[in-house]
Amino acid sequence: MSTQATDNIEKEELTRLLDRIGRMARGLQYCHGLNPAQWDCLRFIGQANRFSRTPGALAAFLGTTKGTASQTLKALEKKGYLTRVADPDDKRVRHIELTNLGANLLSKDPLNCLDRAIDNLPSSVADTMAAGLAQLCNGMQSRFGGQDLGICHECGHFAGPSDTGNMICGLKSAELSCEDAKRFCVNFSPETERS
Ligand code: SF4
Repeated sequence: MSTQATDNIEKEELTRLLDRIGRMARGLQYCHGLNPAQWDCLRFIGQANRFSRTPGALAAFLGTTKGTASQTLKALEKKGYLTRVADPDDKRVRHIELTNLGANLLSKDPLNCLDRAIDNLPSSVADTMAAGLAQLCNGMQSRFGGQDLGICHECGHFAGPSDTGNMICGLKSAELSCEDAKRFCVNFSPETERS
């Protein structure tokens, strides 16, 4: 068999494995009374900064409509996992927050078992997989679209620390706490794309 043919079989095998892991991961997320979309939402709210904890940002992240994202948020609010809190700088804006119940549920995330399986891989394998999958993900994203997520220190809009010890977002002309600046943002724009 030619090297080209062997390469193609290995690539097909990789595609099949990725699909299989994706399906298994999805199947695991029908638990604790939630479905995969609701787990995605809970995870997103748990990791996003305050500018991104909105129905619009969630919709952009999930690649869905704002209506569908709102339905998912409402279902989780009704179950007591999420709540809405007024922005300290602008009372008209309300951010979505995890409740204690939601944070507790998130600690039982069914995808934690994938983390544990990855922990058991030799670090050289995990590093190679991380680099390859990141490349694959970036390639798919540039071809088919998808929301880029990142943190302030790697963002072209980041305007440095403020006199009050917070971080400044140049895009929003607003401050974030140091803690919030380490969370994912849907307005993230890589520094390299802006230089
Ligand atoms: S600096 Fe960038 S990552 Fe940070 S809040 Fe602003 S847009 Fe988001």
